[in-house]
Amino acid sequence: MSEDWKSILKKSITRPEQILERFKIDIEPIKAVVEKYPMFISRYYFDLIEEVDDPIWRQCIPSPLELQDPYGYEDPLNEEGDSPVPGLVHRYPDRVLMCVSNSCATYCRFCTRKRKVGKPAINFTDEIYLAQIQYIRENPSIRDVLLSGGDPFMLPDEKIEFLLKKLRAIPHVEILRIGSRVPCTLPQRITPKLCRMLKKYHPLYVNVHFEHPREITEEAERACGLLADAGIPLGNQSVLLRGINDDPEVMKSLVQKLLKIRVRPYYLFQMDLVKGTYHFRTRVEVGLKILENLIGKTSGLAVPRFIIDAPGGGGKIPLQPEYVLSMDDEKVVLRNYEGNIYVYPQIPRESEETPSTLRFHRPYAQLKR
Ligand SMILES: *Cc1c(COP(=O)(O)O)cnc(C)c1O
Ligand code: SF4
Repeated sequence: MSEDWKSILKKSITRPEQILERFKIDIEPIKAVVEKYPMFISRYYFDLIEEVDDPIWRQCIPSPLELQDPYGYEDPLNEEGDSPVPGLVHRYPDRVLMCVSNSCATYCRFCTRKRKVGKPAINFTDEIYLAQIQYIRENPSIRDVLLSGGDPFMLPDEKIEFLLKKLRAIPHVEILRIGSRVPCTLPQRITPKLCRMLKKYHPLYVNVHFEHPREITEEAERACGLLADAGIPLGNQSVLLRGINDDPEVMKSLVQKLLKIRVRPYYLFQMDLVKGTYHFRTRVEVGLKILENLIGKTSGLAVPRFIIDAPGGGGKIPLQPEYVLSMDDEKVVLRNYEGNIYVYPQIPRESEETPSTLRFHRPYAQLKR
């Protein structure tokens, strides 16, 4: 049996001096960053670092560049503007994002909620949870509730069950989702006991958050396996990060490894314009190139959707390399993943005069000609 997650958390890295235990670096610049943006790294995730500035290091060790961001906003997606009740973001017609925790097993330096993470932005009491749940109960259009944070799995099992039970009791809530980076940064948190509890609240989906193939360890595989064995479909959300995973081959390796641990790539996010994260940002073409290297070249199951969450709160917008070269009344000209050109003939536009039987047969007649 692996070490208990609570004792791993107790040994977390929260002070720059602790980095010196393994790496000889100048920690003075890091101290200044930590004053503005706290550091918290689980011992497990810290141990995944192999050397200074490697892809794991860059995700969790504060960088002086965080204080030199020329652009960036505290709340780039205007989540506060779409928040009817503290912690709840109601942006889309049929679903809500419900933040239930401020803490995470590791603070990602690129976090979209950098403004909140590690700070007591909202003091999550039962009163707050009940106000969030009340809002959901009063809005029958909400059929999908997404627990997020911070990280919901940082809460005790009993608190998670309290939330799931209350939400499940609302008749119009069809599906529940949990977004968590714990399977990546503290996989020991995913215990058989937690999974036995979760499976009582199906249909429940979990979206995990892996960024780099080196994060797919035996422990991560065990954690995802336990969740999957509890019947929970797993998706992955990655953020495209400069100098970490902005390489087509690194990303291909990540998505293929995810499928091997029963996680289906869901979204690949273009970096949000978060204050303090400029150095992680890539140009948008980089993401399109990564998709080009996946679509058709590996399992369709491995291909995430590439998303820009519109600055200012317009929501998620999917992007894709151009496969439609032209489209007119008669035909669509397409290219495939190898760059070959294909023509797909259109059926005639439906008109009132065309008898319905003819409508069906026409395109085939046209093909024969
Ligand atoms: C991302 C997000 C969701 C969920 O979006 P899906 O595309 O359904 O996964 C819901 N609400 C908010 C505010 C979000 O940012
Ligand atoms: S786990 Fe999620 S919420 Fe927490 S710091 Fe990382 S990206 Fe942000």
